[in-house]
Amino acid sequence: MSVRAPGELSGIGMTSLRTRARMVERLREQGVADERVLAAMGTVPRHLFVDEALRHRAYEDTALPINYGQTISQPYVVARMIEVLATGRKGRRELGKVLEIGTGCGYQAAVLASIAAEVYTIERIRELHDRARRNLLGLKLSNLRLVHGDGRAGLEQAAPFDSIVLAAASSEVPEALLRQLARGGRMVLPLRRGGAREQQRLVLVERMGHGFEETELELVRFVPLESGKA
Ligand code: SAH
Repeated sequence: MSVRAPGELSGIGMTSLRTRARMVERLREQGVADERVLAAMGTVPRHLFVDEALRHRAYEDTALPINYGQTISQPYVVARMIEVLATGRKGRRELGKVLEIGTGCGYQAAVLASIAAEVYTIERIRELHDRARRNLLGLKLSNLRLVHGDGRAGLEQAAPFDSIVLAAASSEVPEALLRQLARGGRMVLPLRRGGAREQQRLVLVERMGHGFEETELELVRFVPLESGKA
């Protein structure tokens, strides 16, 4: 009788290794070029972050539901946001200490933690925070801290952050997050821009010696940034 590690060697495991490699190739074709990001996306088992019934779709380039009206972000958007943090306008650098707002299922947090020195992630919905903790257990990422709270207030006790990333859309950059961004630091977030047909655009905010500089990137679609804990 042969004993196999569950998951990686059989069934979904084999499939996921291959499909993950294909996902990384697709990301390259879509223009993601940072090898650190591609390697991390090729390593983190995305299928473990979605419900069993949706696992066969985990590596499609699409957002998927994770309950409570929330979603796991599309692979391209996860890769793109991390790449923007790591390359910005002033060139390539380390992610340093990272704050993520909107843990959701914990997927992006896992990708971040496999690249960055230190990662803090905040989720406002208790059940999702608990589920993310369970999803992440097996990955043993000792540099990742999960917090249940309202991410609009940031995390004063761990600030300043070299990188901040939001996985939920607002109409303005939350004040507290600007204050908690280190000098030379970068924040990437989806911002709602008014107009008849409301659009969301990914925006890069860089903290310079004298203030903040904004760069508008591509159109995106995220769940809204909400207030308070749930
Ligand atoms: N990072 C996730 C995406 C999660 S979707 C991934 O890897 O796929 C965005 C998440 O932001 C949702 O779980 C939602 O509950 C959470 N959210 C919305 N407003 C928030 C707030 N003010 N503070 C913390 N989390 C928030």
